[in-house]
Amino acid sequence: MKNSGNCLEFYSETLEALKKNSSFRQIKNIVQDGKYIILNESQNSAAASGKLLNFSSNDYLGISSDKSLRDTFLKEYLSSGNKISTPSARLLCGTDSIYKELEDFLAKIFNKEKALIFNSGYHGNVGVYSSLINSDDVVFLDKLNHASIIDGVRLSKAQIIPYKHLDYDDLRSKLTKYRKNYKKAIISSESLFSMDGDIADINKLADLKEEFNTLLIIDEAHSFGVYGDGIGICKEQNALHRVDLILATFGKAIGSYGAFVAGSEVLINYLVNFARSFIFSTTLPEISVAFSLFALREQILKDNGLQKKLFSLNRYLRNKLKDYNILGESYILPVVLGENERAVQCSNKLIENGFYVLPIRYPTVAKNTARLRISLNSGMDFDDADMLFECLKTLI
Ligand code: PLP
Repeated sequence: MKNSGNCLEFYSETLEALKKNSSFRQIKNIVQDGKYIILNESQNSAAASGKLLNFSSNDYLGISSDKSLRDTFLKEYLSSGNKISTPSARLLCGTDSIYKELEDFLAKIFNKEKALIFNSGYHGNVGVYSSLINSDDVVFLDKLNHASIIDGVRLSKAQIIPYKHLDYDDLRSKLTKYRKNYKKAIISSESLFSMDGDIADINKLADLKEEFNTLLIIDEAHSFGVYGDGIGICKEQNALHRVDLILATFGKAIGSYGAFVAGSEVLINYLVNFARSFIFSTTLPEISVAFSLFALREQILKDNGLQKKLFSLNRYLRNKLKDYNILGESYILPVVLGENERAVQCSNKLIENGFYVLPIRYPTVAKNTARLRISLNSGMDFDDADMLFECLKTLI
């Protein structure tokens, strides 16, 4: 019998190694307040306490911090007599009419037969990939796809064939070489990549899907609510009808919580029957579902200038940063610095100076591409971008 070893010793040594490598993750004591974040760090922390401009939020349109929107919603919600939540899975007692209302609304705006709400984007991706494919099948995925997609495919036991980021020649050559060896196949990509801030060409992916007889699944987590009049990049690129399943989250630009997929009736019914993260988990609280619907109707799909403001802030700051190693084209602006330690030090300095910009480190991104991930939101002003730039240029 093998020596069973000391489990706690193993965990503790592993954590120490992470600390040495500037990779140790810690939950911070913070509160979001509009475009600011209130940081209450302990005195031992390298980071200062105080009110900082928040350049690390996914609340791209400032919806979650819009107090008047929140108050209007709560007034309506409380007077509607709706419950806060139903502690049950959807297939048991957990389907209130608000779920159907939101799903029908989403199916309509995505021009798909059906939509299905998942508890989060993570649940969504894990449920979709683990149920639609198995060990006879294959998934061709962009190398930079989100961890939740990779975890879903791993659970399915399908073969994973990564292609070079946004390189559709590489994808074509891999499809040519391997597609024939498997039964079902999926091409999987994000539309707006969360760590590089760049954008997929959905029509090129759809051409390959048609040529090689695969499904095409696009994750619009970071673009839903902003691009394509709020519907996302598939809509912006006129490719909605060419994509089999679109997944998007409510926990970013919509300022709420949860996620959904939109697609054909067959695919959605299949997920209801086989996606274990949908079947075996308590449903989202009604209040989150209702807020997602409210935010979509009252803000996202109205031409109220929020998206335009975000795009112009993005052009402005990108132009200022053009001489640095900056990636992508969207309101996610990654400034690549190299080693983990450099990104951590630079982030700590920015925090000390009042700018909450977090480092993204290996293994979340490739080795030696650790970066500052600046994300903008439409609640900010050009002055805020100027101040960040002035501080940043003294550090990098
Ligand atoms: N997909 C992508 C591309 C993401 O960036 C994320 C979250 O960061 C998710 C899925 C997971 O979404 P959620 O946070 O709702 O679990």
